[in-house]
Amino acid sequence: MIREQLLKIKSAIPDHVTLVAVSKTKPNEDILEAYEAGQRIFGENKVQELVSKYEDLPKDIEWHMIGHLQRNKVKYIAPFVSLIHGVDSKRLLEEINKQALKSERQVSVLLQMHIAEEESKFGLDETELLDILTHLVEWQGIKVIGLMGMATFTDNEDQVASEFKKLKMIYDRYASNLNWSVLSMGMSGDYHIAIAEGSSMIRVGSSIFGSRSYS
Ligand SMILES: *Cc1c(COP(=O)(O)O)cnc(C)c1O
Repeated sequence: MIREQLLKIKSAIPDHVTLVAVSKTKPNEDILEAYEAGQRIFGENKVQELVSKYEDLPKDIEWHMIGHLQRNKVKYIAPFVSLIHGVDSKRLLEEINKQALKSERQVSVLLQMHIAEEESKFGLDETELLDILTHLVEWQGIKVIGLMGMATFTDNEDQVASEFKKLKMIYDRYASNLNWSVLSMGMSGDYHIAIAEGSSMIRVGSSIFGSRSYS
């Protein structure tokens, strides 16, 4: 089932859109099934789970941290993580920089913008984004390669489209000057809309692996 779902989604999205298979809460067998079907990029939102899957699974997997990251846990993933989505503070960037340099790496990150109508603690507004951009040169261990955002959880597709449109506009303002290449927007419920609005990376979990049960 996982193989079929994965291949169905891959064949339905354009070549320039990267699929991150979000495997949070799912066992290693499920990840291996997707791996054997050709998937190499996986996303997790908990540091402990990410680290243990990294240790147990094939080393050519690219692991993306997609959830909110606490500063005190950066050190566990800095040695191997391929991309951290959802970075939204200077203090977190400073810690990622420190741990990246310790691992003698440059860690790629996406800055998370707050685009949804919902009140959320996460994501930057444009003023905060600008402030971070002026400090980027200080962090040699970090490479910002684009933006990430999440739309409001709603059935109103016009609203979701307009939130993604707004994120794409902000992205376009900086992308060429700053050499960005990734706009991460779209999940199982809204990736069609996100791609239509210019997403280049979608994070899809339940449409590949089935619904998650949290116990
Ligand atoms: C869980 C999660 C996803 C995937 O959600 P689905 O609806 O299962 O596709 C995408 N992005 C983030 C940040 C997530 O936490």
